[in-house]
Amino acid sequence: MVYNDKRLMVLFEDSPIAVYTCDAEGYITFFNEAAAKLWGRRPQINQDLWCGSSKVYYPDGTAMPLKASPMAMALHSSKPLNGVEMIIERPDRTQHSVLVYPRPIFDADDVLIGGHNTVIDITSQKKSEANQAMLASIITSSDDAIISKNLQGIITSWNDTATQMFGYTPEEVIGKSIKLLIPEDRHSEEDDILYRISNDERVRHYETERLTKAGKLIKISLTISPIKNQNGTIIGASKIARNITEEIAIRLKLKKYMNELEALNKHKDDFMNLASHELKTPLTSAKAYLQLLDRFIEKDHRGYEFVKRAVVSISRLEKLVNDLLDISKIKTGQLQYNMEMLNFNEIIKNSMDSVKHLSNTHSIVLKNMTDVTLYGDRVRLEQVLNNFLSNAIKYSPNADRIEIEANREADMLVVSVKDFGIGIPQDSIDRLGERYYRVEDNSSEFPGLGVGLFVSAEILSRHNGKLMIESEVNKGSTFKFSLPIVKGS
Ligand code: ADP
Repeated sequence: MVYNDKRLMVLFEDSPIAVYTCDAEGYITFFNEAAAKLWGRRPQINQDLWCGSSKVYYPDGTAMPLKASPMAMALHSSKPLNGVEMIIERPDRTQHSVLVYPRPIFDADDVLIGGHNTVIDITSQKKSEANQAMLASIITSSDDAIISKNLQGIITSWNDTATQMFGYTPEEVIGKSIKLLIPEDRHSEEDDILYRISNDERVRHYETERLTKAGKLIKISLTISPIKNQNGTIIGASKIARNITEEIAIRLKLKKYMNELEALNKHKDDFMNLASHELKTPLTSAKAYLQLLDRFIEKDHRGYEFVKRAVVSISRLEKLVNDLLDISKIKTGQLQYNMEMLNFNEIIKNSMDSVKHLSNTHSIVLKNMTDVTLYGDRVRLEQVLNNFLSNAIKYSPNADRIEIEANREADMLVVSVKDFGIGIPQDSIDRLGERYYRVEDNSSEFPGLGVGLFVSAEILSRHNGKLMIESEVNKGSTFKFSLPIVKGS
């Protein structure tokens, strides 16, 4: 073949494989359309040297001088080169990996007259090789055992963790049935899994047991997915297995602790119930005697002040015992409600009276009232308000004013109790409705059991009401609740 034989060149013109020729000095004498497309440019015939790309690189990315290109080497050495890998760069700076096959051409007298080169684009092959390598390294380094098998259940691949988990090397298991790992009594499981996989189903986090080479049973969590070939046909399954033997032991331990905790909690609830009942009876009679004494004692009697203080203390004690009793009742669903139509203004007045009676440090300012009818339990709603007012006093030791107001907002009555006290950190507000929860920073400074708000929240929720708390540390808190108003009132 002569390098400039136009008739022969025509044969290559439409070839899908990039082909070009050079003369003996390396000037390009012909290139086909596939070559122009691959280079992204059309070199100048008899002017461009060695290669249609003006920038070429070695496979490691370092620049390759054009005069050291494989075509130049083949012509200089008069020897063909086979499949030399290099990178060519297009004018738009995109790069392609290619394999080149430059060959010198001699005339009948064996004189070098030029060369031809075939250029094969291997970019996508290189990319998929890189992807393959990346996937392989992910599989190798995975902490989970990754195994593949065909639809007959024959193991086709096995990673390092599978070796560690089951004790078999890849050579020992590849080509063998996966049933090697399955205890006898679970063999039907594998048939079921294969059936599901062949129906394109995925099995996720399936907890089961498998056998190691040493005959030990281990608990594993399996995720099995179908493997498809390029046509989408299912040809096997991949299994990802995680050893959960320890996890299950921990779960069992946790369950045991939970059961123990629940039993302890129940003991505690039973004890609280019993204790508060036992406390209630003598307390009620002591209070009754004290109230009698309070009624009859003369103002100038030496014991007058003591009796007054004893009445306040015993009322506080009674509130605590009642709160504890309420908690037991809430737990057992025995908190009774006597529902009736009522005017909330009366509740506000009663509550203000009873709280004033307990404290003389704060003035309670009523900013607004509204005349609406509610359907609710008078005693329980008064209890909620009492709790908010007495907390407002308790948690604002350096203030002397509490504000209370009730406003109508659409079909709800919104009652708010505002204090100018210690406030509540934002992250504690959400936890306030929990039983026995007290804001840690001040739990030692202020007496209390952390049950009042829990009971209040329960009472409000039974009235279809809502509790809202706004607070800023060292500025004060506003405890609000809304209750539905009876239509037409
Ligand atoms: P107790 O006051 O008996 O601890 P509560 O259930 O009534 O129980 O209140 C729960 C917690 O909420 C209190 O311990 C306190 O930390 C916080 N708290 C309640 N009301 C106020 C308030 N007005 N200002 C600041 N903190 C409050």
